[in-house]
Amino acid sequence: MTTLEGIFAKPRLAQRDLARLLALDDPAELQQLYAAAYAVKVRELGKVVHLRGLIEVSNLCVRNCLYCGIRRGHATVERYTIPEDEVLAAAAWVWQEGLGSVVLQSGERTDEAFLAYVERLLGGMRDLSQAGLGVTLSLGEQTEATYRRWRRAGAHRYLLRLETANPEIFAAIHPPGQNLASRLACLASLRRCGYQVGTGVMIGLPGQTARDLARDVLMMRDLDVDMVGMGPFIPCAQTPLADSLGDFDARRAAQLELGLKMIACVRLVMPDINIAASTALQALAPDGRERGLLAGANILMPNVTDPRYRRGYQLYDGKPGLDETSRESRDRLAAAVARAGERVALAERGDSLRFRRRGA
Ligand code: SAM
Repeated sequence: MTTLEGIFAKPRLAQRDLARLLALDDPAELQQLYAAAYAVKVRELGKVVHLRGLIEVSNLCVRNCLYCGIRRGHATVERYTIPEDEVLAAAAWVWQEGLGSVVLQSGERTDEAFLAYVERLLGGMRDLSQAGLGVTLSLGEQTEATYRRWRRAGAHRYLLRLETANPEIFAAIHPPGQNLASRLACLASLRRCGYQVGTGVMIGLPGQTARDLARDVLMMRDLDVDMVGMGPFIPCAQTPLADSLGDFDARRAAQLELGLKMIACVRLVMPDINIAASTALQALAPDGRERGLLAGANILMPNVTDPRYRRGYQLYDGKPGLDETSRESRDRLAAAVARAGERVALAERGDSLRFRRRGA
């Protein structure tokens, strides 16, 4: 069997190589994998972390994804949409504190009132930062015309997860009518509109194997995305998948490890992209996000949503930081970065190196 060093040295990893890495469970071998991915990150991007201030602008959603805590059918969720002046105040704080970029995320809506709300927010953020603030949108599946409209209004990046490259698993976790093909069509639209394109998957879904995850990594590589934001699946009470993993507490450590292995594998196959260490990692262990950095991630997203709204945006059980202020979220992450022996880049947008190279 090829040694791990032999796999790391390959110019192009095959599905079976990735499946082998994703199935590792020996602590020494896992350390080898994380160290190899970390070395690639440091070589390409340095020991530098860029922050994105995450604003969860609305939890209204027209979709009914079976895993998600803000799905349309989740009746006990109190719905909110943050007024424009409050979103802009949060974005102004991000800009003044030198975080460099914001991410606007929400449930999915395609009505004109919402499209125009986002467009006005983009204009407002451009004005308050003299077009200096980097803006990522994570607002789900939209038409190409909408993506173009928001790009013209000032958005730079868009994150739309494919969730899983396995169409059968995709079908099992979504209602009929949603499919992988339309996600892929959206990602192609986003590319045509000139965005830095990001995607990602949920890791550790019911029925998902190491081979499936290896396929996810290869699909993201084939899509040649500029950014990846992925995280472990964590069941959410009162959703159809609430009990889908059995005793989840018994699986927390393994689920975290799987998330870290995925970060490492993505870094090995896509050395110069931006990879976020997601909040879901921190939900599984207090040091989850710094472990993500040491496995190859280079982006952290402090939540800067006003604490008044955070309870309404619980995608999964045990989401951390519900009572934290923006400053506390930012300071906690900055401390995690320092513990990982890295530094936060201030007053920089931190655009994807992959994207910049493609444009060169
Ligand atoms: N509506 C937009 C969309 O669908 O792209 C953005 C918001 S959506 C809540 C963002 C992501 O949350 C999804 O792509 C999904 O991967 C993740 N998510 C939802 N429920 C989750 C859960 N129970 N565990 C982990 N991640 C979850």
